[in-house]
Amino acid sequence: MNTEIIKIEDGKGDISTSELSLLKKAAEILKSGGLVVFPTETVYGLGGDATNPSASEKIYKAKGRPSDNPLIIHISRPEDAEKYAYTTDIYYKLAERFMPGPITVILKARGSVPEKTRGGLETVAVRCPENKIANKLIELAGVAIAAPSANLSGSPSPTKASHVIDDMMGRVDMIIDGGECDIGLESTIVKADEDGSLCLLRPGGITVDELSEIAPVRLADAVVNKLKDGEVAISPGMKYRHYAPKAPLVLLDGDISDAISYIGDNAKGRVAVVCYTEDKESICKALPNVTLLELGELGDFDEHAHRLFDILREADKMCFDIIFAPLPEKRGIGLALYNRMIRAAAHTIINLRR
Ligand code: AMP
Ligand code: MG
Repeated sequence: MNTEIIKIEDGKGDISTSELSLLKKAAEILKSGGLVVFPTETVYGLGGDATNPSASEKIYKAKGRPSDNPLIIHISRPEDAEKYAYTTDIYYKLAERFMPGPITVILKARGSVPEKTRGGLETVAVRCPENKIANKLIELAGVAIAAPSANLSGSPSPTKASHVIDDMMGRVDMIIDGGECDIGLESTIVKADEDGSLCLLRPGGITVDELSEIAPVRLADAVVNKLKDGEVAISPGMKYRHYAPKAPLVLLDGDISDAISYIGDNAKGRVAVVCYTEDKESICKALPNVTLLELGELGDFDEHAHRLFDILREADKMCFDIIFAPLPEKRGIGLALYNRMIRAAAHTIINLRR
């Protein structure tokens, strides 16, 4: 398949007339059942008409994703959810506070969403992205757009057009290059429980503290723990290996001096260390042969989120034998980082705290 790449400045400013005509072309592709990759504030999405089962089928195929792992549908205005799902009071409370933005809400699906898009579930995941390119494209398409992250299944989500090009050239009709994604981690996914509380299925840019302003929040077990053998995941994506770099990733829970001695004792071959800016010098001095991958300044969780997937992809290109990284704190957007990193590390966490 021939993949056309178009460039649009960024998703924050107003869309110019010439950009609008490019987006109209992209919308036509979507309307006729084709696939378009577009930037959002979270990660790049691989879009197709959510009401067209053959478009959903093409999405699963392009990603190499198991078709029981449902797709999030994207709308340009929160009220458009009415066409695809049975909305609730709590949906509108969340929408008023967080939409457009990096939140996905699970609702009971209407018949307009084909089984293929829902991965066979009775529910559908709904999100209204803030990125102007994404939002305008969905508006122009005039229909909800099913869009999982635009990576090959199992590899880190794409946060730059170059990541998408690496994974999706020849697999989709068009790629819209809209620069780097702001947040860099996928949306927060919530489901309202019958008692009016919110169950957090996937942490993301909207934090637990922010959600708690709307309703009490409960973390689904798989957010911070490993699913037990045979346990049914509330969100099918939880059961798949995710965000995995090619080299084994080991998370170190402890201070930097203990981490340095652990790496010194255990590292063999080509070694990478994911580190905070402040720790670079001491790691370099103690371990001159390791490659440092810088996550940003200590405590700057937004920057860590923004950089993580790019770092994992860079690491893949450099073919390391092992990668060490600090275990993130579970505060704020740190919880989303923690969730992605424990999965990328297949839950390999070394406790260096005494
Ligand atoms: P991605 O499309 O790559 O951002 O991943 C979407 C995530 O949303 C996956 O983990 C899916 O399993 C999850 N998801 C999508 N639809 C539903 C749903 N109806 N109920 C629960 N989880 C869902
Ligand atoms: Mg994904």
